[in-house]
Amino acid sequence: MITQTVQDYLKIIYKLGSKGETVTTNAIAERLNVSQASVTGMIKKLAELKLVTHTPYRGVELTQAGRKIALEIIRHHRLLELYLAQALGYSWDEVHDEAEKLEHVISEDFETRMAEALGNPTTDPHGAPIPSKDGEIVERSLVPLTQAKAGQRVTIEQVSDSDPTMLRYLGDLGIYPKVEIDVLEKAPFDGPLLIQLGDNQHHLGETVTDNILVSAVR
Ligand SMILES: [Zn+2]
Repeated sequence: MITQTVQDYLKIIYKLGSKGETVTTNAIAERLNVSQASVTGMIKKLAELKLVTHTPYRGVELTQAGRKIALEIIRHHRLLELYLAQALGYSWDEVHDEAEKLEHVISEDFETRMAEALGNPTTDPHGAPIPSKDGEIVERSLVPLTQAKAGQRVTIEQVSDSDPTMLRYLGDLGIYPKVEIDVLEKAPFDGPLLIQLGDNQHHLGETVTDNILVSAVR
């Protein structure tokens, strides 16, 4: 039985794995805010359902079947976010929490109609790629803004969707996907970045710049 909890686990395992790192039970526990013991129990169950494999050296990995479910839920989530924003007027800091709930319950027909109403979009309001109907996803190689250096011009591609307060802050500054910024200065010892956006300059601390992903710097 594929419960909401199972879907959430597969989603998190996909997201952690897509960063190219070994997925540990510890990392899953942190992301889901549950105990290590319950993660260990759940991973055993997922392995029995043949949705994941768990080996000492490779960590937790999705099987083909597990990956399919994860991408299906991620497709629901990201389409819902865009639909809530574009069709229902939700602001970009409100859509994530709503989509977290709805992603588990909508039908395939609802999903298809949303996609059609939106013109079969490829990214959500935060710039994250939307998997296709048949489970294809384009994972771009993006880097955190933190890694940019003084003098570089970068295009913002994606921002983290999990903290509404930060999204409101970024929105106030005009930081959205596809916006170009110039990095003017970077203070030593991982200090804040001074950026130019249009006519304005802003200092951005590391907590913020870690959550903004940019395309390869020029
Ligand atoms: Zn979201």
